[in-house]
Amino acid sequence: MKEFSRDRDGVITRAIDAGVSKILTVGTDVKSSEKAIELAGKYPQVFAAVGIHPHGAGNVQKAEITRIAEMSENPRVVALGEMGLDFYHNYSPKEAQLQVLKWQLELAGELSLPVIIHDRQATNDILSILTEWVKLTRPQRPGVIHCFGEGASAAMRYLGMGFCLAFGGYIGYPNNKAGDVIRSIPADKLLVETDCPFLPPQKYRGRRNEPAYITLTVEVLAGILGKSSEAVARQTTENAQRLFKFQ
Ligand SMILES: [Zn+2]
Repeated sequence: MKEFSRDRDGVITRAIDAGVSKILTVGTDVKSSEKAIELAGKYPQVFAAVGIHPHGAGNVQKAEITRIAEMSENPRVVALGEMGLDFYHNYSPKEAQLQVLKWQLELAGELSLPVIIHDRQATNDILSILTEWVKLTRPQRPGVIHCFGEGASAAMRYLGMGFCLAFGGYIGYPNNKAGDVIRSIPADKLLVETDCPFLPPQKYRGRRNEPAYITLTVEVLAGILGKSSEAVARQTTENAQRLFKFQ
């Protein structure tokens, strides 16, 4: 993203110095997906996900999905996404969002790649679409619901389909109530993410988020779970490895 144009190499170096061993950088359209692959080619720690975000779904043609399919052949691509539905911002018409999500899910099924799902005020639609998709394609590694912010019942349904749930810096905000949901999730289904440059941990609120700050989210998670940061770091790293098969 352009927020990192000035110091992208420094950002990645800081993350590695902070103990981040793997970074999954995520495309939101064809162009940013190409850039994600480019970055993954430059650093052994960086991997790419390619996909089309619901925000930009409005003018997407099937040809762009074909382009995503071609890009996914790159060995540094470990997932498809970000894809999903966003009925909060509604930057794209609902029908277009649904179509672009379905195209990408179909592709993920064909390629046996995990998906990164964006769900903003669209949980019911996403749950029913994913339920169908899982029934049809029986994916071994369905994927991850990113920036999970729903309650326990949605969590249980996603978990029942085999999805992981990822949490970001927002779990440490003073008014956040994700603790109970997090404690109800099996340890092998928990992931951490930055969603940078967005959603920085409390300490950096109002500023740009970056991958090195994931350590702060691990600390918050450790506090919620009553475990050590080291144990949570180890577990979430293993979980990410199992889901994305980083090589
Ligand atoms: Zn998102």
